[in-house]
Amino acid sequence: MPTAASSPKNEITIVGAGIVGLATAFHLLAEGHRVRLVERGGVAEGASFGNAGAFAFSDILPLASPGMLRKAPKWLIDPLGPLTIPPRYLPQITPWLVRFWRASLPDRYRASLTAQGGLMRFAATATQAMVAQADLAGHIRADGNLQLYESEAELAAAQPGWEARAREGIEFEHVRGERLAELQPGLSPRFVAGTFTPHWQTVSDPYHYALALFRAVMARGAGLVHGEVTGVEADSRGVRLRLADGQVLNAGRVVIAGGAWSRPLARSLGDFIPLETERGYNTTLPPGAFDLRRQLTFGGHGFVVTPLSTGIRVGGAVELGGLKAPPNFRRADAMLTKAARFLPGLRTEGGRQWMGFRPSLPDSLPVIGRSTASPAAFYAFGHGHLGLTQSAATGKLIADLVAGRRPPIPLEPFRPDRF
Ligand SMILES: Cc1cc2nc3c(=O)[nH]c(=O)nc-3n(C[C@H](O)[C@H](O)[C@H](O)COP(=O)(O)OP(=O)(O)OC[C@H]3O[C@@H](n4cnc5c(N)ncnc54)[C@H](O)[C@@H]3O)c2cc1C
Repeated sequence: MPTAASSPKNEITIVGAGIVGLATAFHLLAEGHRVRLVERGGVAEGASFGNAGAFAFSDILPLASPGMLRKAPKWLIDPLGPLTIPPRYLPQITPWLVRFWRASLPDRYRASLTAQGGLMRFAATATQAMVAQADLAGHIRADGNLQLYESEAELAAAQPGWEARAREGIEFEHVRGERLAELQPGLSPRFVAGTFTPHWQTVSDPYHYALALFRAVMARGAGLVHGEVTGVEADSRGVRLRLADGQVLNAGRVVIAGGAWSRPLARSLGDFIPLETERGYNTTLPPGAFDLRRQLTFGGHGFVVTPLSTGIRVGGAVELGGLKAPPNFRRADAMLTKAARFLPGLRTEGGRQWMGFRPSLPDSLPVIGRSTASPAAFYAFGHGHLGLTQSAATGKLIADLVAGRRPPIPLEPFRPDRF
């Protein structure tokens, strides 16, 4: 007979064992909760598997911005460019695009920027603490990021964004000439300037980092159930999760951390959250494909090149194409072709291609909060381009909400019912 303490009703069940679900499990376990993860695939084999591996703490500018509205028409013309909307998906994505446009209006953009700045400051300290407690320091590279520009005009156009970051206390250095060559030797001369952000970090490999966190979570007593959750119901007696194989799991509380697939789960609880996916692509070249000193961002082309322990990862791009269409790896090819032009001597053979589903809300902010339908259900999804960066912070904030503590940053901007 299970005791009251070991009854499933006292468990917190987390749907999704991606980096956000794992970091949430870590923080709930640290507070003494019984935690069970439910995952339908392999651990961290969703978006958390193949991302660019950046703790992009200085990346506080929401994508939904006046600048993006200016850039988007040019980018959309190129079918393999940084931003694409497959025509067949246009009808489904239009309501999200309308919300994105509204979130880009100057006053809303400023509010999102302030919220993102606060979350990122908290993310930096929460990540540092989790990395120390879970013994993950061996996975961290602290050599910053170098953003590159092809003209002084491009740097000047980025200047308002850097001024906004300066107001949020972010350190950076604009570099040219010898300093640029020292930060990254062997760049194409087309790059005349750069901005170095020293406090940006990367991981050895995002999948290995997530697996190390998974091991830490299991060592602290978490359970793992393999199964696909098809619906969640919650009332005053607790939560019931229905699985595709017919099982029903009872729990005291639930955290939905299903990444890009979270919308129907929130819907089954009674919340409408306009989550969509920004599909992204990359190619991971074998180690040694280039003498890469740190992560490089080619902002004008929407991709990054990252040094990992497992190779050199070239990728990015946004394809607003939904969860069902097959990947179009010509996008990964197009970024690799550009990378070879930008980094002369880059060896492009032997790469592995990947596509991942970023979980994205129209205002570029995640949902971190309690369901409006039930006090027993919590949401932790929609981190878009920044889920790795914000995972520890999200886990800590969910633990605060579960405990009924006042969180260290205002959570209104991340409320599930803000749309
Ligand atoms: C190309 C690319 C580059 C990126 N680069 C960066 C970067 O450098 N830095 C950064 O911070 N972020 C980056 N991101 C974003 C980051 O990868 C995501 O924001 C993050 O991985 C989301 O984590 P998650 O745990 O919410 O989702 P996922 O990792 O997708 O995990 C969700 C999990 O939930 C499971 N699941 C879903 N529904 C169910 C269900 N019904 N039942 C059971 N299980 C379910 C899925 O199988 C999956 O394992 C990048 C993304 C892409 C695509």
